[in-house]
Amino acid sequence: MGRIQLKSVTKKFGDVEVIPPLDLTIQDGEFTVFVGPSGCGKSTLLRLIAGLEDITSGNIDIDGADATDVPPAKRGLAMVFQSYALYPHMTVRKNIAFPLRMAKLDQAEIDRRVEGAADVLNLTDYLDRRPGQLSGGQRQRVAIGRAIVREPAAFLFDEPLSNLDAALRVGMRLEISELHKRLATTMIYVTHDQVEAMTMADKIVVLQAGVIEQVGSPLELYKTPRNLFVAGFIGSPK
Ligand code: ADP
Ligand code: MG
Repeated sequence: MGRIQLKSVTKKFGDVEVIPPLDLTIQDGEFTVFVGPSGCGKSTLLRLIAGLEDITSGNIDIDGADATDVPPAKRGLAMVFQSYALYPHMTVRKNIAFPLRMAKLDQAEIDRRVEGAADVLNLTDYLDRRPGQLSGGQRQRVAIGRAIVREPAAFLFDEPLSNLDAALRVGMRLEISELHKRLATTMIYVTHDQVEAMTMADKIVVLQAGVIEQVGSPLELYKTPRNLFVAGFIGSPK
């Protein structure tokens, strides 16, 4: 399960309201992309959902239960960052296993999940390497592996491909889309890249200055942008 509902969520940093009251429902299993220019609040919104930032007012429900005050580790969500945040001294196996060791799962279960994730991500032959011996794309896959083993209700990606070169980025987009098809888990994916949004999303949420300008499928936004901002951002012929 992985239905996420934001109800009148706001966020202030000091006196600055970065997110004015915002309502949004993300359906279970959906691939939702938050897109908008730099500074529009995409990362903040993702961090609010993850529980890495406290909301100023409003509520967040996960699968119908109020998660507003639930600490990040107990929300059942897994975040994948653009900086891979891998431990350089640990092998790939240990990096992927890390959250499960913290959660004190037994070793057989840890091995089962790590090997399953490595299989999905084509990392089986790399489990004994260290991050320094991997390519950028492989490092990003390890970071995704560390999320997969937690078997989260939803994956939250914050511009995970922005450190990769253009060719690799295209390949990783496909891999993440494949992963979504295979796992059928809710994914929220933040990017400032319209092409990424248009090619990956079931549903796109267009943000400007913390405000949702439009929510819809890529085709809906392209064909019927609600305003000039959406049209310009998505690249509609309007
Ligand atoms: P995006 O990810 O879309 O580029 P962010 O969510 O990082 O945007 O930032 C949205 C706004 O909130 C920006 O104006 C940014 O400066 C501000 N902001 C983000 N984090 C903090 C923080 N910890 N303290 C103060 N302001 C912040
Ligand atoms: Mg950001």
